[in-house]
Amino acid sequence: MREAKLVGSLKYRNLRYTKNHPLRIPRVSLLLEFLDAMGLIEEEEKVEGRPATMEELLLFHDRDYIETLIEADRCQCVPKGARERFNIGNYENPVSPAMFRGSSLATGSSIQAAELFLEGYIAFNPAGGMHHAFKSRANGFCFINDPVITIEFLRRRGFKRILYIDLDAHHCDGVQEAYYDNDQVYVLSLHQSPEYAFPFKRGFLEERGEGKGKGYNLNVPLPKGVNDSEFLFVLEKSLTYIKDVFEPEVYVLQLGTDPLLEDPLSKFELSNAGFLEAFRLVRDLFGDGVYLGGGGYHPIALARAWTLLWCEMSGRKAPEKINPEGRKVLEEVEWEEFDEDIDISYMFEDLKDPWRGGEVREEIRDLVGRLKALIYS
Ligand SMILES: [Zn+2]
Repeated sequence: MREAKLVGSLKYRNLRYTKNHPLRIPRVSLLLEFLDAMGLIEEEEKVEGRPATMEELLLFHDRDYIETLIEADRCQCVPKGARERFNIGNYENPVSPAMFRGSSLATGSSIQAAELFLEGYIAFNPAGGMHHAFKSRANGFCFINDPVITIEFLRRRGFKRILYIDLDAHHCDGVQEAYYDNDQVYVLSLHQSPEYAFPFKRGFLEERGEGKGKGYNLNVPLPKGVNDSEFLFVLEKSLTYIKDVFEPEVYVLQLGTDPLLEDPLSKFELSNAGFLEAFRLVRDLFGDGVYLGGGGYHPIALARAWTLLWCEMSGRKAPEKINPEGRKVLEEVEWEEFDEDIDISYMFEDLKDPWRGGEVREEIRDLVGRLKALIYS
């Protein structure tokens, strides 16, 4: 079996979003601390992330946008005109050390994950997957689009058929736009329907690409309350159909954990056991790929889910119980949004959630029928 590497850094602790922002929570540093406490990672499996170079950032973004991010991060202020022009310095995309230093570190780390993958390792960059950022505009908490830069890196290494799979609860509008007229990159996204969720304007079934890229974009907009059975049903069908029409040489998988029931920013109801099965489904069909993180706004749910995925990637049997050291790490997380009325003690005791399956609703079966008709038309 291939050896696994986790590209991460404790530097993210000091590169946080502003107070009260959903991404203010500890994520990568918490995952690393939790894995250590649980004895689920060896030192030689850790790779320290590095920032992206200017050349790498310009694989997708405009220079004046990047230079503005650098300046805003340096002065911790909004340069004149930048709010309107680049959509930064507002509640959604605030000025903070995350806006350039954090995003650049996450992007360099995604390229490292791709490099490690090409060297024969299984590689996961949990800080990656910032799929909303546009070429010269911040969007949806994202400043630098590391999935696109990673795909561009792979294209420059000669890959001509790349599949991008996005399991985040939100549509990957930044990635879709980058490849909308491209037939070398197939973009698949399962997400909450834009009828009720961010980004509202993009992510509809009818968006299939344009020009040369027509037919190389597949959106799967889903209703509220999607359970494990429904998510896996629709994912399995979508991947199987795509495999019939597009044979990828490599794929990039975005593993945002916001489809989980506990997540405060989504209406899906997956368990981490279902999320793990979704990961296995992708891997069973396409082998290993380049693994990136993504959204995820409940720190404890996120740490548990990515721990399960890491165990799977690195060939470990995931323990059933959280040990006292691991529990201590989780209990020390400061987060103002813990809801006192809901009993979440299970999250501190067991690593895996009980299965949250159920019936596959008729509207989801109908959607799969429409997907099939679109793919084979
Ligand atoms: Zn999301």
